[in-house]
Amino acid sequence: MTMQNKPSVLFVLSVDTEEEWDWKTEFPQYNVQVENIQAIQGFQQDCNSVGIRPTYFVDYPVINNSQSVQILKSIDQAGQCEIGAHLHPWCNPPMTAENDEFSSHVVNLPIDLVEQKLVNLLGKLRASFGKDISSFRTGRWGINSAVMALLIKHGITVDSSVYPYYRNSYFNCDGAPVEPYWPDLSNPLKAQSQITQSSIFEIPVSAGFNHAPFTLCDKIHKLSSTPFLSFLRIPGIMWQLKLLRKIYLSPELASATDMQTLIKVLLKRKAPIVHMNLHSSSLIDLPYSNHPFTREQILKNMKQTVSYLQEHANVTFCTISEAKEILTQNQGIQ
Ligand SMILES: [Zn+2]
Repeated sequence: MTMQNKPSVLFVLSVDTEEEWDWKTEFPQYNVQVENIQAIQGFQQDCNSVGIRPTYFVDYPVINNSQSVQILKSIDQAGQCEIGAHLHPWCNPPMTAENDEFSSHVVNLPIDLVEQKLVNLLGKLRASFGKDISSFRTGRWGINSAVMALLIKHGITVDSSVYPYYRNSYFNCDGAPVEPYWPDLSNPLKAQSQITQSSIFEIPVSAGFNHAPFTLCDKIHKLSSTPFLSFLRIPGIMWQLKLLRKIYLSPELASATDMQTLIKVLLKRKAPIVHMNLHSSSLIDLPYSNHPFTREQILKNMKQTVSYLQEHANVTFCTISEAKEILTQNQGIQ
């Protein structure tokens, strides 16, 4: 394939930059561990060697630790990354809600409490990095119109809380677009049919199926996950046979081969962006890790996937706010 025939695509890597803990225990609130942040220095060098410009969505406990701030600040001051905000409600003051599964999702909290948490987070980020923060992701994903309105009020211009095709008992992202979009503020899981607001742009992480079209695949996947069919282990059988695989572009969750399959489908769909995501806690090996890969395998998955993408597309590496600028040029309300 010649250079001219290759599609052009943006590549964003977003890193949920947060404390490490054993997910099987309760959510940590005080005295949380942020040792993994030390590993970001080496990780950033790996990113620099490939050309990746990571976006670090940083949460409260990380900026509550001066050593962690120093590490991120030096990378930020070198112009090699973007610092965004990440809200883990269970360890972001004020901590007045129940520390349970339901309340761990931002969308389930009283909006006044979310605002107090957000103001504390953004204020501390501003004090630590000496600049306003313009990008955001909720902890554990999910967004609704009330939270989106708060983000706009507090100066956020890019959100990345949408996790396409994801649903659990506490929230879902049903029907949300996979490609970046101007959200409908009355239902941010929908794109506006006409652009009436251009205050905030949504850039979901890349997700999809090993076949196009995604909407049909999602319906089949959802159907096969009903209690009766999942009792028959239909989703697992379809995965094994490669009939239908739901793939998230995360080197923690998917092998390099699966991510390459997803990229192939995304390029075929003429996706303008490939958005990979990982957690900073994956940069150290933890005895209680909740994913199938070691740190070394995760980095390998990431690098192999990026070189596959570079073979098949002309790639522009950018941060999430830079991606928003590029994708929305000449769009929106003037
Ligand atoms: Zn998180």
